[in-house]
Amino acid sequence: MVPILMSIDSPLAIVNFPIWGLVVIGVMGLLQAYLIAFLLVSRRKYRQEDKETALLAEISSKFVNLPSQEVDDAITDAQRRLCELLDIDFMVLWQWSEKNTGHFIATHSYSLKEGVQPTFERRDDAYPWVKAEALAGRSIILRSLDEIPEEGAKDRESAHQAGILSNLTLPLAVGGEPSLGVLTLNTTRSERAWPEPLVKRMQMLAQIFTNALARKRADENRRENEMRLSLAMDSAEAGLWELDLESQTFLINEKARAIFGYSPNELVSMANFKASVHPKDWKLVENSIQKAVASGHPIHIEYRIRRADGQERWVISRGRPCCNSDGETERVLGLSMDITHRKREESQLHQMSMVVDQSPALVVITDVLGAIVYVNEKFTEVTGYLPEECIGKTPRILKSGDYSPEVYKELWTCILSGETWRGELHNRKKNGELYWERANISPMLDSNGKVSHFIGIKEDITEHRRAETEAQELRNNLAHSGRVTLLGQLASALAHELSQPLGAILRNAEAAEIMLKSESPDLEELRAIIDDVLRDDERAGQVIARLRSLLKRRSIDTQAISMPEVINEVLTLVQTDAADRKTKITCSDSPDLPNVAGDRIHIQQVLLNLIVNAMDAMDQCQHDRRRIEIDVRSTGSEFVEIQICDTGEGIPSESLELLFEPFFTSKTNGMGVGLPVSRTIIEAHHGKLWAENRPEGGACFCFTLPVAGDDTTSAQ
Ligand code: ADP
Repeated sequence: MVPILMSIDSPLAIVNFPIWGLVVIGVMGLLQAYLIAFLLVSRRKYRQEDKETALLAEISSKFVNLPSQEVDDAITDAQRRLCELLDIDFMVLWQWSEKNTGHFIATHSYSLKEGVQPTFERRDDAYPWVKAEALAGRSIILRSLDEIPEEGAKDRESAHQAGILSNLTLPLAVGGEPSLGVLTLNTTRSERAWPEPLVKRMQMLAQIFTNALARKRADENRRENEMRLSLAMDSAEAGLWELDLESQTFLINEKARAIFGYSPNELVSMANFKASVHPKDWKLVENSIQKAVASGHPIHIEYRIRRADGQERWVISRGRPCCNSDGETERVLGLSMDITHRKREESQLHQMSMVVDQSPALVVITDVLGAIVYVNEKFTEVTGYLPEECIGKTPRILKSGDYSPEVYKELWTCILSGETWRGELHNRKKNGELYWERANISPMLDSNGKVSHFIGIKEDITEHRRAETEAQELRNNLAHSGRVTLLGQLASALAHELSQPLGAILRNAEAAEIMLKSESPDLEELRAIIDDVLRDDERAGQVIARLRSLLKRRSIDTQAISMPEVINEVLTLVQTDAADRKTKITCSDSPDLPNVAGDRIHIQQVLLNLIVNAMDAMDQCQHDRRRIEIDVRSTGSEFVEIQICDTGEGIPSESLELLFEPFFTSKTNGMGVGLPVSRTIIEAHHGKLWAENRPEGGACFCFTLPVAGDDTTSAQ
């Protein structure tokens, strides 16, 4: 008031009535004082608004292009300055939890008394009315808590407990977007009014905050997505690139740089890129980029590159053209991966499959259940089945019906135990023709060592069979002619030797016949004739005995021989015959067996006779019962015994010895010399040959041969 009183030095002072003058001065002074006070108040008011506007302008300009990592500090700083300027006790920016809109999180708060406040989360529902209003985008302006309507009773109570006297709550929302949260301004020391211009300015501030927070969230999301993408890229070993079509340059990440071998700061222009692509593949790359840009279709190419370090690599690139807001393609975004390893494997696999395809062997691959998954060209050539006709089926399509289920069971047991099955199979082609194959069927293991497939590598041995059979027939013919020759020799020798005694017997018999026709036969003479006949018969018997002993005396080339070896040689001779006759021949394994003293050729002849006889004896048996078991063992230290047993009908007990008589045969085309000759041979070796029946059925022919001594090397 002092300056006002000092200013009464005015023209009114010339009035000469002191009381009037005093009254007038008083009134004028009052008026002036009011005027000055009015001017001062409005000036202060004007200055406050000015300051608020200036601060808002400053804050708003600060938030323009503010990097998102600085947004938080800028908000708290703005809160501080506003609290100080507006004398607001505390200001809190609440955001709805992104996971759950039921939760508020106080992310930025400032209190005049305590400064920047820590972030905290409110899970309770202390302000349901405020929340509903804010979510609906409405501001709440409360000079006093009494202004809260009835439905906000709970909010009033909560605010009261928090010591709040006045409150301004502004939703953080822009342009119809769902609200992010609220900005609250509170007083606790005294109530205050919220004039409309201030509310407007604070709403603008809330918008500035909202924009900044939304941008920050978007930035964070983008960064998170980028991080996820780059993690995915890294784990997929993929390089990212972006081709700017106008400048014809690539922006690429570290991984892409490593794939293409560009140096760290090298600018990747289209020309650089072209230089790194293999010249033969450049057209493909260029065309697909041009096509993608023109059509908007994605790029998907595999091509070779030549890196600066001289390495040639294979790369796969996928890309997608991107348009600007005018719909013009302005860049292509994509990723590239080094696929050299895969390409190498592919080419190795290709080479392998070429080898397998062109292999002279039939190759069949099945899965573990036996379904065919692959056959090569040779398979198709031999069997007539095209891949599409057999894939998915089992190799049973080739079954000839010649084998019992046991044979296949044995095969499966073998390969399922992880072993390789080797054998020969008689199979049927698509056209019904039969063929022979020699097969090796093995399990294929996966990387965990488990059987994943079976591979059959087979050789068509039909021609080889055929040749074998012809050779066998030849051998059989030879053996047969050998027998016939022997028989012929025997017969002529017999005829020659026996002609005399038989002729004498005939003549004597004729004489006896004539004498018997007379009325009084000369009995003396007849007795003499019978004596002659008996003598001649004895002579004939001696002839046969002498022939046999002659045979015995034939030179025998005795050597120390291994019986298993000789048996194998004979089995090779008979194997085709045995297969044709569906006869399985097994031979016992007898290690440590001593050698025997014998003539290899003669012993082979005996074995051949006995095995062929055994097969003959099983002609009427079912296929799968036809079995010959050969057993060789030492009997004491002096002899080795060989047994050839079959599963045929056996021998009638009364014939057990007769079999060894010359010309005894039960066969239509038999000659009956095999067994007597065999016995003669074995006896010539100082061994024995005999026959017996097996209790379980079938016959056994057994012979013994002496163990070879140290001196057994040459003919006796
Ligand atoms: P062939 O074979 O020409 O008949 P063999 O002297 O070799 O002459 O055999 C004589 C006979 O012995 C045969 O006809 C047959 O009746 C009988 N025989 C030989 N081997 C066996 C056998 N394994 N099982 C049953 N009978 C046999």
